[in-house]
Amino acid sequence: MRILVLNSGSSSQKACLYEIGETLPKHPPACLWEGRIEWGGETAAIAVKNLKGIVQKEQVAVASREQAIRHLLSTLVSGEARAIASASDIDVVGHRVVHGGPHFEDPVVITPEVRSAIDSMSEFAPLHIRAELEGMKIVENLRAALLQVAVFDTGFHCQMPLSAAIYPGPYEWFEGGIRRYGFHGINHQYCAQRATQLLGKYQKPLKLVTCHLGNGCSVAAIQGSRSVDTTMGFTPLDGLMMGTRSGSVDPGILTFLMRQGQLNSQEIDKVLNEKSGLLGISGVSSDMRQILAGIKQGHKRAKLAFDIYVHRLRAAIGGMAAVLGGMDALVFTAGVGENSPEVRAEACSSLEFLGLRLDSEMNARPSLDQDISTADSRVRVLVIRAEEDWAIAAECWKLAHAATPVGTRN
Ligand code: ADP
Repeated sequence: MRILVLNSGSSSQKACLYEIGETLPKHPPACLWEGRIEWGGETAAIAVKNLKGIVQKEQVAVASREQAIRHLLSTLVSGEARAIASASDIDVVGHRVVHGGPHFEDPVVITPEVRSAIDSMSEFAPLHIRAELEGMKIVENLRAALLQVAVFDTGFHCQMPLSAAIYPGPYEWFEGGIRRYGFHGINHQYCAQRATQLLGKYQKPLKLVTCHLGNGCSVAAIQGSRSVDTTMGFTPLDGLMMGTRSGSVDPGILTFLMRQGQLNSQEIDKVLNEKSGLLGISGVSSDMRQILAGIKQGHKRAKLAFDIYVHRLRAAIGGMAAVLGGMDALVFTAGVGENSPEVRAEACSSLEFLGLRLDSEMNARPSLDQDISTADSRVRVLVIRAEEDWAIAAECWKLAHAATPVGTRN
């Protein structure tokens, strides 16, 4: 079964084609084809690669996002990096949908009704939902009968206890859909499954704290494969300090700035989402690599940004461990989590009181999906590669298998 995954982010569009046979592999297989668009105003950088390692890169003028995505998908069937003969070789298309609102928890087959329900969630995440609906339309135009599946980034957190999910404002907020939804759920769930595989010997339900540290950052508390708390909230702005996002700030700051007439609601949105976090504090960059380089050059605000980032991360991990009443394993994943020994070491150094001991050599150069704690550490520390696209493909495979009687599969 060939499954195409479309994953649209705020600054990029990723796509991956997987081939999965009659049994679901335990580990992510290599993609038959993968492509990425980096949006850059009037042009877009498109890069694709197939299983043979053939890479094709283009800089194209963008009249519309739709046109660029159609161009990206055309490289599946034509050009040097093509992977299949025609669109009819694709069996299922999976879409990452950033917000499932109060309605969607599990992955669903996309029908006109589902699409209009997703549309009605636009107010929660306007830019993302618009891009995701656009992707569904493009696929429909590619081949109308293609099975399409939506996998929700909020779904994993849907069953959080109400004590974690409800903000302590008036109860009417909750009745009106204002609650903690949490995000990065597809990857937090994948990491919990992978950690369970890696730590196989545990008899009791595992208590895990997973740290997704990419451009966006969130921590989740997971008990027995269920999310019981997470730092992102009603929007992906809550919680940890991120690349350009502030994470949690005192809401009184916002009403103060509004009262003073310094910022209106649109400007507040822009400041908190685009001009804060590592970038806002350092003035250098939102990219942790640049922050670390800045620190080496003695840049004081880069160091301050790093310190705030780590302080908030430690506080979140400690909070999640308290929610769980302990922690069997701490997981680091996504761009910073997988690649920055500095962040992992600093975050772990304050957790030694829990009996957590990091192996500094393994931390410096972990192979992926590895335990980097010492043999006597009471808490395991894992680095797990984020495999969001694979997790989406696996969900599509399960849904398609459930929907197709044995004997009729090709
Ligand atoms: P996204 O949230 O967009 O999926 P990623 O998970 O790819 O983001 O993470 C991107 C971030 O990872 C970059 O902004 C950068 O800060 C960080 N990163 C990547 N490589 C390294 C590295 N070697 N050291 C530190 N940070 C890194």
